Amino acid sequence: MARVGFIGLGNMGGGMAANLAKAGHDVAAFDLSEEALSRAEAAGCRRADSAAAAADGAEAVVTMLPAGTHVAHVYADALGGTPPGAILIDCSTIDVATARSVAQAAQARGLQAVDAPVSGGIAAANAGTLTFMVGGTDDGFALAEPFLSQMGKAVIRAGASGAGQAAKMCNNMILGATMVATCEAFALAEKLGLDARSFYDIASVSSGQSWSMTSYCPVPGVGPTTPADNGYQGGFAAALMLKDLRLAVAAAEDVGAQVPMGARARELYEAFVADGQGTTDFSGIIRTLG
Ligand code: NAD
Repeated sequence: MARVGFIGLGNMGGGMAANLAKAGHDVAAFDLSEEALSRAEAAGCRRADSAAAAADGAEAVVTMLPAGTHVAHVYADALGGTPPGAILIDCSTIDVATARSVAQAAQARGLQAVDAPVSGGIAAANAGTLTFMVGGTDDGFALAEPFLSQMGKAVIRAGASGAGQAAKMCNNMILGATMVATCEAFALAEKLGLDARSFYDIASVSSGQSWSMTSYCPVPGVGPTTPADNGYQGGFAAALMLKDLRLAVAAAEDVGAQVPMGARARELYEAFVADGQGTTDFSGIIRTLG
């Protein structure tokens, strides 16, 4: 079993660190939040006083932080005591450029680094059933894979450094756009006098079907149980969807890709979040489309 440093013990990282401890690793955990640290301790991790203390002597350092700036700062400050050959695994959702620069800086110090953002929410983080999409070298992937498979049900190599983040933002751009389209269709169906359940029965087995329709239906009482059945609480916060759409649209601008649907979805989530709905589940945007 390994010495692991885990930095960022929030909604996602808390459960992920707990699963590494459960797998028998010696997990030194750090977060700026005292509450998060106490939860991690209760879940079998060892409390570290700083990011550098968590990473000191670690064979693997895992980060699950809000955004690219946090990741860049933590890795710039924390790696003094990390032994050569250690693997840095950033599971946060961040921009491709930061992921690549973290990996380059790590390699310059004799460390390996992969970007390994996740699909799956808090429940999957707690249950150890996340999907990881991994960007990095062959050696980096080989070192990271055993740790990732103890936190997830699938570990998929996306390509070179930054490819995991590219896959994540492209996937979530589809998700944002299909959710808005699904919400629009239910709102239109209602105005056309169609019963929501009848429309679901048809569209869920027709060409309008998508994950947003059949796994995450935005209409309460229709399809499987989803955040819509819980007043749009829990689930995937609209602010996080907006963050991912901003990353995707910014990346598209960088490389000259045309993403008109992604850009429109971003505008709609900008307005939703500006209206104070940042913590509402992202499917709650249906309430603006009636
Ligand atoms: P969160 O805000 O709950 O957790 C982030 C944690 O990082 C917080 O506890 C915060 O105190 C800590 N932190 C911030 N700066 C720090 C620093 N310098 N040193 C140590 N700790 C620091 O966020 P989350 O929901 O756990 O999401 C984490 C990442 O996972 C994000 O990039 C998010 O986009 C991504 N993600 C989230 C979900 C989800 O459903 N919540 C799903 C997939 C991906």
